[in-house]
Amino acid sequence: MKLLEYQGKRLFETVGLPIPKWQIADSSEAAKKITQEMRGVVVVKAQVAAGGRGKAGGIKLAKTPQEAEDLAKKILGMEIQGEKVRRLIITQAVDIAQEYYVAITLDRSRHRPVIIFSTAGGVEIEEVAKTSPQSIHKAWISPLEGFHAYQARQLLFDAKVPSAQMSSILKVMLALYDAFTRYCAHLVEINPLVVTPKNEVWAVDAKFILDDDDLPAEAPLEEEAGLDPLERSAHKAGIQYVKLHGDTGIIGNGAGLVMSTLDVVQLKGAKPANFLDIGGGASAEQMSKALELVLSDPEVRAVFINIFGGITRGDLVAQGLVEAKKSLNVRVPLVVRLTGTNEMEGRRILDQSGGFIPVRSMEEGAEKIAEFVRS
Ligand code: GDP
Ligand code: MN
Repeated sequence: MKLLEYQGKRLFETVGLPIPKWQIADSSEAAKKITQEMRGVVVVKAQVAAGGRGKAGGIKLAKTPQEAEDLAKKILGMEIQGEKVRRLIITQAVDIAQEYYVAITLDRSRHRPVIIFSTAGGVEIEEVAKTSPQSIHKAWISPLEGFHAYQARQLLFDAKVPSAQMSSILKVMLALYDAFTRYCAHLVEINPLVVTPKNEVWAVDAKFILDDDDLPAEAPLEEEAGLDPLERSAHKAGIQYVKLHGDTGIIGNGAGLVMSTLDVVQLKGAKPANFLDIGGGASAEQMSKALELVLSDPEVRAVFINIFGGITRGDLVAQGLVEAKKSLNVRVPLVVRLTGTNEMEGRRILDQSGGFIPVRSMEEGAEKIAEFVRS
């Protein structure tokens, strides 16, 4: 999961990275008040998951509280790459003499973390890789030995960083590795890492990608960046759900099966409204939650439930469906293909309850679905 800048900064602060003072503002009035308290120049920053907020007009300097209020009004409600800005941070502005780039991520081919440093900061690293690849320096870190200061020093020598800046940037690098390991991150990135005319060093931006299966208790994620409200509620229930824009709700178990179901449904002429994987060994409860989720999408005109029972038991899935159907207001046809473990028992439960359309294969199911959405 990609964190918002302020969530990333919170984690960065726990390892002692130098972050200019910041506060969250949900309204233009709050932006004004915070600016008054901070005194001096501030930066008004849109909190969205998309990168390149600066270029999109989501990051502006304000010299006075009034100016901060006016800018906040403009930026709140703006859309950046399809994401609405609902929240800002107001942060103390720093003077920029130099902008560097520093990041740590996993190098899967070498089975270890890699630290990347570039003297061309403030620009996206993909861009730098194209225009000035010679400015990019890397070092690989042994997960057993950790990140040695001499490795950081070598990188900075190679990058020809002035000696007056060395020790503070070196500290930043070691702290960044601390954050990377402490939070099991996939990526930590500071772009730009700013050096002021007085050689002070500040992490002005924070990018943090966490492992969804290992979210830290230290990071209260009251909002999941860039997620659709349905997706958020699915993730809370441990269900993998991705909203698409078709007419057919899809529920299956196992990502591979669900993806092929999407393909077959599309092939037969309907359009999937979502990806939903209830996972292995799904319970009746989970099935019920899944159906509720899919049906809460107003675009859905039919639902295809495609279950291959291995660990997942057909009778439990069927029970879940029957219970869910009782408690939900089902206004669309439910096509069910149930095969594998306890298949007969599952079918019997569905037949007894009634109101489901059983099919024998994925193709047959997809054809039925196409008939319904066409009619
Ligand atoms: P991004 O565009 O989403 O990567 O957002 P950043 O937080 O990296 O900000 C974009 C750019 O705004 C930076 O590269 C800086 O040039 C500028 N900027 C951000 N904070 C400050 C600041 O405190 N002072 C000054 N002078 N410029 C800033
Ligand atoms: Mn940035």
